Amino acid sequence: MANFQNTIAEMTLTDKTAEYSEKVKANEMNPLASLYENLLNLGADSVADKEQKKYIRITNFITINAFIASLVYLTIAILWERWFWFGANLGMTVVCLLVIFMNGFNYTNLSRLTFMLGVNLALFGGIVIMGPQARGDNFFLIALVIPFLIYDLKSTIHILLGVGTSMALLVFCSYLVPFMTAYNLNVEQQLLMYHIGLVIQFFLALSAVYQMALYNRKAEEDLASSAAQMSFQTTELKRSNSDLEQFAYIISHDLKAPVRNISSFMSLLATKHGPSLNPEAREFVDYSRNGAKRMERLIDDVLSYCRIGTNLPNPTPVNLNDVVSTVRFELGERLKAINGEVIISKELPIVHNVHSSLMYHVLQNLITNGLKFNKSANPEINVYWTNSLNYYTFSVHDNGIGISKEYSATIFQMFKRLHNENEYDGTGIGLAICKKIVEYYNGEIWFESEAGKGTTFHFTIRKF
Ligand code: ADP
Repeated sequence: MANFQNTIAEMTLTDKTAEYSEKVKANEMNPLASLYENLLNLGADSVADKEQKKYIRITNFITINAFIASLVYLTIAILWERWFWFGANLGMTVVCLLVIFMNGFNYTNLSRLTFMLGVNLALFGGIVIMGPQARGDNFFLIALVIPFLIYDLKSTIHILLGVGTSMALLVFCSYLVPFMTAYNLNVEQQLLMYHIGLVIQFFLALSAVYQMALYNRKAEEDLASSAAQMSFQTTELKRSNSDLEQFAYIISHDLKAPVRNISSFMSLLATKHGPSLNPEAREFVDYSRNGAKRMERLIDDVLSYCRIGTNLPNPTPVNLNDVVSTVRFELGERLKAINGEVIISKELPIVHNVHSSLMYHVLQNLITNGLKFNKSANPEINVYWTNSLNYYTFSVHDNGIGISKEYSATIFQMFKRLHNENEYDGTGIGLAICKKIVEYYNGEIWFESEAGKGTTFHFTIRKF
């Protein structure tokens, strides 16, 4: 049904409107077609909402065609001098005219309601007057569809009201028809009515199928063109990302040598001429050395960030227990000094299709941070994991200072630090590196934390 709604909407709104305005501009439209288009637009111009415009145009579309059909029946009734029949069709014509006028005066809601219920009343009146031969009860089936066409599917009350009255009247009429006196049509006239009804229904079905096919083709074309556009944009994005990384890599690489020179010469200056410098000058030299060292670390970190995912060997199965053991071993001295511990609370799995160097980076960064941002007398890191169908979820929990929730998105950005250099050293790239690596394996990284009680970083690795 939604397809059919869209079908008519597409036809009446998009294509035709554009085509129409082009033709009007070019003065090509004949007056009848122009009148038809103006009638289709009645009331739609005053509404801003695009969806509502669409439904008003659909209402106009159906009403105008129903009006034309009822004029045909009126003419036949006059020719055959069937005045009851004439009366019944007049009811339908009046309903259509009312709807057109209401839309003209922008009573668009009232007009739709009048149309939906008016069609049912006019049909009912026609059946009562004309009896079973008119085959009017068939038209209740068409009336059943109307609410779906002229209302947004969210307007449940309107749709139920329309469908409910059509159904109730259809059932009521099927009980009533045998007791009604047939309006005396002769056999030829009954046959003619039958054929006209058949032709109308045939064309309605044909037009629905045609419009649906048109709509589907357009939807397919739209889908294909947006898929092509998306793939183009993805390629562009990948290219510009890799350009940017290449740029950062080259700059960092080229900066390395001069920064190292500054650092070495500052060290030389301090060792060779330190004693002869006055205290203030020595302090300045120290500042410069520290600055140059920090710059070196920053450059190294930016280079590691840029290198993630490049020149990697083939992935292999990696035993994460071994990775954590290596990190623990490397931190040995420091752990002793701060009385800290790194515990694997649940034996970790062997993960396939990853790179041990990258897994090392993630775990090393998270474990080191957990120990660094920690004021506890016994800093403790717990590493554990959970399994699900498509992902492994690893968690690194610490009993440190905690992180406020408001940083949940920004903390993974490059150079984002919540503390200054004097409080805790660092470059602010560690978590950005973790995020890039985790995303390289189609995973996600996030944290849960309670101020003062500790933080748990979770990350997922997709199973292939
Ligand atoms: P760095 O450690 O070099 O400062 P990171 O990218 O690793 O950079 O971390 C960014 C910031 O996130 C840190 O400066 C710190 O403020 C905060 N942070 C990271 N891990 C933790 C943690 N486990 N507990 C508290 N704060 C943390």
